[in-house]
Amino acid sequence: MSHTDQSIDVPTLLEISTSGALAGSTRRYEKYSGDMEGVYLDEGAWKAEVAQKGHNNLVYSVNEQKYQAGPGALIVGTSTVLPGAYGDEYAVTRGHLHAVSDRAELYYCLSGRGVMLLDTVDGDSSAVELTAGKAVNVPGHWIHRSVNVGSEPFVTLFCYAADAGQNYAIIADAGGMKNLVVHDGPDGWTTVPNPRHSGYRTGESA
Ligand code: ZN
Repeated sequence: MSHTDQSIDVPTLLEISTSGALAGSTRRYEKYSGDMEGVYLDEGAWKAEVAQKGHNNLVYSVNEQKYQAGPGALIVGTSTVLPGAYGDEYAVTRGHLHAVSDRAELYYCLSGRGVMLLDTVDGDSSAVELTAGKAVNVPGHWIHRSVNVGSEPFVTLFCYAADAGQNYAIIADAGGMKNLVVHDGPDGWTTVPNPRHSGYRTGESA
């Protein structure tokens, strides 16, 4: 077999740290307090944090590695959600449904303590707690978001099909996900219904 074929990529060594560092990554992006407008129910708490820490206060970051081409390729990366709370609500990522919605995704917790919050457009919901060594295999058709319910960074390793894409608007257009992850007693968390959630609109692709 020829290895000069341009469609064949070269295996890449990735060094993955429990802190989320990813040697060999090809892309990094960061989200700041100012990017999270409209995400939290307690808008006043979000505004107070922005006023105190500024728009450019880091709230989560992603490092990822992908090959150049091919619908069968994988994207591998780390997600780091810093601890925080807005009113009773714990710090979250924006969350998404895959644009190719049947695409699944693995999340494996490297450090910290968090929750994978999950909804289907049909009204099913789930919340899976993750600590180091635990993973969740998110099936296709599930909207998903990481939530940090601990006091340390919540770091996960993720892996999904490179052609999946992300539909972020489905959450924003619905007024947020169906449930909120909130404080519940010392070091505890629970989910409560999100009063702004108006149902997911389907029939459109991202
Ligand atoms: Zn995803």
